[in-house]
Amino acid sequence: MDWLVSMPKVELHAHLNGSVRNSTLLELAKELGEKDIIVFSEVEHVILKNDRSLAEVFKLFDLIHILTTDHATVTRITKEVVEDFAAENVVYLELRTTPKRNDARGMTKRSYMEAVIEGLRKVDAVDIDFTYTEVRLEKKGKSCEMGNECDGISRKKIHVRLLLSIDRRETLEAAMETVKLALELKDFGVVGIDLSGNPKVGEWTTFLPALKFAREQGLCVTLHCGEVPNQEEIHGMLDFLPERIGHACCLEEDAWTKLKMSKIPVEICLTSNIRTNTISSIDVHHFADLYNTKHPLILCTDDTGVFSTSLSKEYAVAAAAFGLGKKELFQLARNAVEFSFAQEQVARELKDFFDLVEERLS
Ligand code: 5GP
Repeated sequence: MDWLVSMPKVELHAHLNGSVRNSTLLELAKELGEKDIIVFSEVEHVILKNDRSLAEVFKLFDLIHILTTDHATVTRITKEVVEDFAAENVVYLELRTTPKRNDARGMTKRSYMEAVIEGLRKVDAVDIDFTYTEVRLEKKGKSCEMGNECDGISRKKIHVRLLLSIDRRETLEAAMETVKLALELKDFGVVGIDLSGNPKVGEWTTFLPALKFAREQGLCVTLHCGEVPNQEEIHGMLDFLPERIGHACCLEEDAWTKLKMSKIPVEICLTSNIRTNTISSIDVHHFADLYNTKHPLILCTDDTGVFSTSLSKEYAVAAAAFGLGKKELFQLARNAVEFSFAQEQVARELKDFFDLVEERLS
């Protein structure tokens, strides 16, 4: 496990509010309990519970949103989540979040995102690059690259890019607002749009005009696809040819063939799929088929907080379940750069970094 923690990794499917530390959630719940906004004893066990169905997960998200949705807390959790990923040597993180309007707290979708960006600015445990224009840290005239020695001090560096999520409960108008916001925030690291939220709620076609608009305007699109066995939706999503899809669990044979032909990269979240019982057990997980047929795939966490996992743990699960050795795991991590929505320059820097680390390991 130590080796997997030290290996550089790329995270492409992580939801901000699903990645909040349990300790932070409990602290926030206590504060709201003291203000009589919630009853702490009633929510404590909900936060600490480990096994949840997909339906229970979405109930938990409603609770998390009550705890986290004010500007200062959004800033705090963003900083903590980024620093947690950096601590386990994630060198590129695509963090997704649903911009939220909350009139009671004077929050607009834009001010929510400004609070997220403020959280990125506040990251200080590591060097961070999150803006469109690559900013290099200059120290005494020397340029510090990721984790390189710089004046004898080794500083970790993480690149963070943002995806704005559309929640399936939203209206087309609200989704359009999210896409327009994403376009306005391109210079602050927003690179794409995600469609997520309870897969049993709403019709994905409601959001097609917003997703098409996003694509026309140069944003990348990733869709949560096949978390429930809705074959019509799955086919429609694959025909849209998103840049990536998440999960791809419940595809029947013809949809599976279509996915394979399309070469759409799949964000695989092993622990999430098992915990929510979307896949009955790890030995029947579709990771094996995708991996063996060299279909583009990326190991991801989904929600480190909700599912008590980390990216290193996801690699450990894959190693144990599918017999992958160090070389294969490293290659899997390196390949993920290819499927990121990062700009050329960032992708090049990341690939060079992986090459450098590989040289040192061999
Ligand atoms: P947020 O967007 O509020 O930062 O992160 C939490 C939200 O991400 C949830 O309310 C939900 O909309 C979405 N989400 C997190 N995990 C999952 C998942 O496994 N499946 C789907 N479909 N949506 C998820």
